[in-house]
This record gives sequence, structure tokens and C-alpha cells, in this order.
Amino acid sequence: MPTYPESQYAIQIVGKDEFIVNDHKPIDPVGPYQMMLEVEACGICFSDTKLLHQFDSHPRKSEVIAGIDLDALAEIPGYRPGTQPTTPGHEPVARIVEVGEKVTHFKVGDRVLVQADWKHLRTAKSNGAFGYNFDGALEEFVVVDERCVVSPEGEEFLIHVSDGPSAAAVGLIEPWATVEGSYAWAERNHIAEGGALLVVGEGSIDSLTGDHTPASVEYVAASVEALEALEGQTFDDIVVFSAVPEVIEKAALLLGTRAVMCVVLGKRRLPGRCLWTLGVSTMTSSVSAAQRVLTRLRVMRGFLLTVICVRMTSVRSSVLRARWV
Ligand SMILES: [Zn+2]
Repeated sequence: MPTYPESQYAIQIVGKDEFIVNDHKPIDPVGPYQMMLEVEACGICFSDTKLLHQFDSHPRKSEVIAGIDLDALAEIPGYRPGTQPTTPGHEPVARIVEVGEKVTHFKVGDRVLVQADWKHLRTAKSNGAFGYNFDGALEEFVVVDERCVVSPEGEEFLIHVSDGPSAAAVGLIEPWATVEGSYAWAERNHIAEGGALLVVGEGSIDSLTGDHTPASVEYVAASVEALEALEGQTFDDIVVFSAVPEVIEKAALLLGTRAVMCVVLGKRRLPGRCLWTLGVSTMTSSVSAAQRVLTRLRVMRGFLLTVICVRMTSVRSSVLRARWV
């Protein structure tokens, strides 16, 4: 068993918009199902400020009502529901320095980061969470219970990391994962299988249809008139070989729900402003999707292409202008 200092520094939220730096917070003892994390580094998150402002009315600060035996809950020293002062900080990298004899998934020496939302521990409106209703990592030593960080189905919320990356780099994993979880689309980065594809203008789409087969492919000239003739139809994919803003804008009007549009400019530039509407929530995803499509087209055509992908959500009223000058 390691020797610990008698007490430690900790930041504690003690009320709404009220926090203290406690220089004598006791170090909790490690029970049979628990382990001690020595914190290497911990990020501060905008979510921490929400907890600071809302404190006991935050949905993750209320009592855990299901997902763990209530006797077990009572054994966890860092459980801080309701108005109890709590240590925030859910973006740590830490070293396990002590484990209780009943701990099975982790051992002394493991380097870990925390998935803060312990989803199986239900509160009235949300779930239990590290740095909310359980003490987090803005303290030097924090006790975590294995029944909190391993769900009954075996999902682990303490994630092993190697010794290679710096503490700062590991500390960024949780926030970046959150960003990716919110904005990255795991959906489609290729032509819709069995979908309707519209090709506007002269260009090859072989690289796009090699692995994925649309149900129909329609070819039209890159002109406003040709596109107007299609009014009323929608397409799952539109590839536009054109640098004429009016043509691109007209083509965009034919996008169906969750459709993707690729604009292939060749070596040309758009001469002026080109505006079309897209779903607000899809802005970020379209960039990564565009890059993947761009890579494939580039390889195939052998010259510089510029590609923009636009996904339409079903919420057509939430309009955002994509401006490209
Ligand atoms: Zn965060």
C-alpha cells in the first residue's frame, strides 16, 4: 500500500456559483471494490461551469436511483449527490496506485482516462457521472469504485492508455471524443447504395460507383435550364462538375433528405458568391465527408478538384447559408 500525504489540495464546488480551493481535503480510504487514482493532469471543461452554475439542480448531481446496489453506493466515499460539496474535473489522466482485493479489471500501475458518464447508474433525469455526483479529478488522489466504472454488461468507463502520450495529450481525449461523438457522422461517405444519383456536367464518376451501386444514374448538362427541368425530383447523391454558382445552387435544390452533394470545380475557382442551404446540424460532418470523397476523386482524376459535400437533414427550415467566395 502506498503512503499518502495526510491531506491534499482539491477544488470543490460547494454551492451555486461557489467553489473553494481546499488545501486539507482528506484522502479517502480504498475499499475492497475500489481503487486509488493519482491524478497526473485534468482538463477543465465548459461543462464544469454548468455544474458550478447549477450545482444541485444539475441532472448529474442528483441521487443515483438505479443501476447499483444501494448498500454498495453507501460504501463509496466520493459519492456526493444533492447539496454535498463535490470535486469537479472529468477529463483526467491518472495512474492507479492502489486497488482493493475485489477489483478484477484494473491493477496497480495502470494508466487510465475516464469516460465520465457512468450510464448504468441512473439519476432521475440523467446518469451518475465522475466530477458531478461522484468526486472528480481536480484533486490529487481520487477513489473510484469498480462497480461505477464497469457496467453489469462489462462496459468499462476507465479506459487504459499507454505510457507514450503526454498527460496533456491524453487529457484532450475526452473533450475531442465528445466533439467527435456530437458532430462526426458515422453514416455515409460514399454514394448511396441503391439510391438516386444525379450527375451534372461532364466528368467521370467511375471511382464513386466502383464499390457502391446506385439504383439510378441521371446525367444532365451543367445548365440552369437542364436542372430546372428536374424540378420536383430529389436525389440521394448529386455530383456537379461545374464552377458556375447558378448551376451549383440549382443542383442543391434537388437534394433529398440526408443527401450528399459533391461539387467538382476542376482547376477553376468560383467566380463569386455561391449560396445554398443545408441542415445546421450537419455542417461539421460534411467537411470530413468531403475530404474522403475528395481523396477518391483526386486519385481518380489526377488533377486538383475541390469538393464540398452538403448533407440535408429533414429539418429544412433550419437554414444556414454556406458561403463560398
Ligand atoms: Zn468535458
